[in-house]
Amino acid sequence: MQVFKFGGASVKDADSVCNVGKIIEQFGSDGSLLVVISAMGKMTNAFEALLNTLWKSENYMSEWGRIRKYHLDIIYELFEEEQNAIEAEEILLALFNELESVFMSIEHNKNYDELYDKIIGYGELLSTRLVAYHLMQSGLDVVWIDARKVIVTDSSWRSANVDWDATQKRVGEELLNYLESGKIIITQGFIGANAEMSPTTLGREGSDYSAAIFANLLNAKKITIWKDVQGVLNTDPKIFPEAQLFAYLSYQEAAEMSYHGASVIHPKTIKPLQEKNIPLYVRSFLDTQKSGTCIDNTVSRKIIPSISFRRGMYLMMLESKSFGFLETQKILEILKGVFSDEVLFVHFNRMGLSIASEEKFSLSDDLLEQINFLGFELKELNDLLMIYVKNPDSNIEQVIRKRWRILSSQTDKYRMYFLAEPEEII
Ligand code: ASP
Ligand code: MG
Repeated sequence: MQVFKFGGASVKDADSVCNVGKIIEQFGSDGSLLVVISAMGKMTNAFEALLNTLWKSENYMSEWGRIRKYHLDIIYELFEEEQNAIEAEEILLALFNELESVFMSIEHNKNYDELYDKIIGYGELLSTRLVAYHLMQSGLDVVWIDARKVIVTDSSWRSANVDWDATQKRVGEELLNYLESGKIIITQGFIGANAEMSPTTLGREGSDYSAAIFANLLNAKKITIWKDVQGVLNTDPKIFPEAQLFAYLSYQEAAEMSYHGASVIHPKTIKPLQEKNIPLYVRSFLDTQKSGTCIDNTVSRKIIPSISFRRGMYLMMLESKSFGFLETQKILEILKGVFSDEVLFVHFNRMGLSIASEEKFSLSDDLLEQINFLGFELKELNDLLMIYVKNPDSNIEQVIRKRWRILSSQTDKYRMYFLAEPEEII
């Protein structure tokens, strides 16, 4: 069996939905198929805006009207036959009504994140209902599945953790029969539910991860993420127009690149695939002739450098004011509390040190006092750009230092981290 994943851009309007149908017909008949689909276009952002208005008890009619109109416009364009348009409209209206009853029941003293998970996933529910109906009208044998009944998570609202054993059981109960009888399963990315059936979400852009979860638990032969780009590029073409496409990439490299900011796949996607050695294809839904990028276990491929970018990084610098040399032991002892999983690198020299992190540190008054007492000047910098190079070649460092003013870095033969002021392109 195989898994397809279509993101928001691939279902953003009626033509795109038709294109998804064509891809499923052309490439999906090789064994059984499960299709994971995201919310249409930028609908998740639209739902977030709606929720913010609702939460402030402001009039939400304009946001809500925009969401409704967006979906309704798509069905009026998609279905020429009046009867089909009416049926599709009924499907949407039922979901709109369900949502409205959630709006009515909002309790402002409750947890915002919990409410977020109740509402935001409707982007996916609407989109998959609509695509499933379209595919059925095109003659495909599809079944729509509510992912909240399959993906079991804990209650960490907005970034829920999957309960793999419970989900495996549900996959057996809810999906296997359909796949065995040759039906194409259409389901949502990004959403699940806790053991009490309260909806949860896996984190923004989490649909890739959902597809990988299904692929893992169904022992898929392969998974394809259909995107509006050709595949995985070695860097951001907006910054380096000479970016190259990877024909092949190892799991390890793909995981590192996505973790360090390459936005082409969600960072959590790789692990469940690597575990079962399932190849991941990243391909263009616009140019289906091209084979895109294949990510798998093979490592001995032509290695080209990759450069990823991530914003919002933090740098803490300590410099000796007293011309004394760094007392490494002492300073490490007092900084013990700030080290966490978010730290990217620590850079020491005899006059001081810098620590780069994904998150800002919260420094207690006591710690500040000790830093001062040991004769250090503290500097904190926020919102920095991280430039991450994997497999550097001999001139990359020079190219980067020419372009950005680097505040701190750590480099070795295999990886280089640079922190720079984002706007400061020299
Ligand atoms: N629709 C969700 C989002 O935009 C999940 C996804 O697209 O992967 O974050
Ligand atoms: Mg999306």
